Amino acid sequence: MKTEQIWTIFLALAISSPTLCENNQQIAHSILDDVAQPSPRLDDPLAGSGTKLQITIDESWELDDVRKVSDTLYETANYIYSHLRNGPEFQIVVGHDNNLGPISRYRSNDEDFDRVLLSNTPLEYRPQIMYQFSHEFCHVISDFNRIRSTESKNEWFHEALCELASIFVLHSTDEPELKSYIDDYLEESREILSDIHDFGSWLLSNEDELRAQVDGRLDRKSNAVIAYRLHPLFARHPGLWNTLWHLPKSNSKIAIYIAEWKQAIDEQDLHLLHKVEVRLLGEKEQL
Ligand SMILES: [Zn+2]
Repeated sequence: MKTEQIWTIFLALAISSPTLCENNQQIAHSILDDVAQPSPRLDDPLAGSGTKLQITIDESWELDDVRKVSDTLYETANYIYSHLRNGPEFQIVVGHDNNLGPISRYRSNDEDFDRVLLSNTPLEYRPQIMYQFSHEFCHVISDFNRIRSTESKNEWFHEALCELASIFVLHSTDEPELKSYIDDYLEESREILSDIHDFGSWLLSNEDELRAQVDGRLDRKSNAVIAYRLHPLFARHPGLWNTLWHLPKSNSKIAIYIAEWKQAIDEQDLHLLHKVEVRLLGEKEQL
């Protein structure tokens, strides 16, 4: 990508649209303040191996050497991306903003990439980068520009799936400290889940409250309960990540929503999504 094109894109970003995820504030300041000149990492090991995943770090990171962070971002995404069929194309520009991140931003009409902001501290803190970026990468592979979670009554469910992405990624590594990083952070949710004997009833009895959240993301404790409920299923059947691209843009309640989702996915994933349905709404364990 030529420099002129990049500047054109980021000038367009300055008048870009609403935001998604942990922080609902609009980005009021000029994007040019925190986005200088991005430097695409075309030399990344994944870039030359047929993948269409491109992750670019911009200069808001203020790092002398971006390689370490860039490698962590690619590694994080690849724990999920490697399960997506046919190498789908994603271009993600990742900035750093302590106040606004972590967040994924909706595209404006002429943008052909997704923009994510992280807020990990310190800048090279690998567990937090992985935790935050896997969540935001999940929004990207959920086609978040189309489903508009922040305008949806089902934002709580989208947030639960993306919290699941973080759990999935950190548990996919062979580093015990990464698993305990997220498990400790979400310990309260794991305890709540362990006390639930009929998950379907628990979910349905809480659904109205979850839907009523001004922002579904605000009940992060419940979102993580749902995420941990689904984690064993996604760990056993990681092909389930292929279904996220087809999440319906719908305000239907969860039982109908999942039925709509099943209609939208590839037929080969139907049996897997049925397992999700049972695990969320049924009583029986089914992996
Ligand atoms: Zn989110």
